[in-house]
Amino acid sequence: MSDCLFCKIASGKIPAKLVHQDDDTVAFEDINPQAPMHVLVIPRQHVAATMNDLTPAQDQVMGKLFRVAAAIAKERGVAESGWRAVMNANRDAGQTVFHVHLHVLGGRPFSWPPG
Ligand code: 5GP
Ligand code: ZN
Repeated sequence: MSDCLFCKIASGKIPAKLVHQDDDTVAFEDINPQAPMHVLVIPRQHVAATMNDLTPAQDQVMGKLFRVAAAIAKERGVAESGWRAVMNANRDAGQTVFHVHLHVLGGRPFSWPPG
């Protein structure tokens, strides 16, 4: 999608601190980190704006986001201490970028319920 920030990051048109990339996914540091580790993992393709738009065609890539997230958490040394994966959908959840993305947060304790 030409007018999408995360599509531009995925294609290299806008720079980001890349953490991982493969044919299906791209992971990069969040520009405004909310924890010592705050990485965003996205489908390389603009498969859906929000979780509301997912179809069975995206099952594989959406599952892979979690596996990439877990690999990053392990690499950063927080797999055992704990980490959190968050995906916001629309206004009440505070979604601001409409290309589905998984927040991967770690390196500090997180409260529950979330704010
Ligand atoms: P959302 O609020 O949509 O769930 O998350 C969007 C995230 O993208 C936010 O945490 C925000 O800090 C991050 N973000 C927004 N613009 C940029 C950018 O240009 N580069 C990077 N690396 N992250 C961004
Ligand atoms: Zn996009």
